Amino acid sequence: MRLRIGVLGLQGDFREHVEMLNLIGVETLVVKLPEDLNLIDGLIIPGGESTTMGRIMENVGIKEPLVEKIKEGFPVYGTCAGMILLSKKVSDYNQPLLGVLDIEVERNAYGRQVESFEVDIKIESLGEKPFRAVFIRAPRIINLGENVKVLAEYKGDPVLVREGNILASSFHPELTKDTRIHEYFLRMVEK
Ligand code: GLN
Repeated sequence: MRLRIGVLGLQGDFREHVEMLNLIGVETLVVKLPEDLNLIDGLIIPGGESTTMGRIMENVGIKEPLVEKIKEGFPVYGTCAGMILLSKKVSDYNQPLLGVLDIEVERNAYGRQVESFEVDIKIESLGEKPFRAVFIRAPRIINLGENVKVLAEYKGDPVLVREGNILASSFHPELTKDTRIHEYFLRMVEK
């Protein structure tokens, strides 16, 4: 059976993730409704505005079923706003969260839109070649649980983490041509 990966398409840069998945030749589905979750083997939550995305998720009724699925082992990958939505806690801000990834984040911790930046980081599990990480009003992980594995750091902060079936990055691999993190996620889905 062929795998199909969903990209949450309620808000944010979901089209870029779809293009990335097309590049690696995997079937995709833009997910908008709770029932779409039954048609996919894993889900990417894109970057965007986590407050808006979280509210829309509640409004369309996809938040609760998604949380249930993730708790049962369904693979998810969140980038930037997606990472915020997966987290258990956002410091000094109250917003709808999935609350499944044992991290606390501080939003917009790397500055405003104009202070967006790109930097080469090392991701050991992806080989020697550095990864070009794009940070756009990115969240910073300020606390993490003992079961959360740090896959990459930038200036001492974790920027790519994994807790079992949950992968999250504070940067945007979908805005580069480097497909290695998407392929890594695909391998998580295959297992
Ligand atoms: N600053 C956004 C938020 O807090 C995230 C930005 C992004 O996804 N690039 O939701």
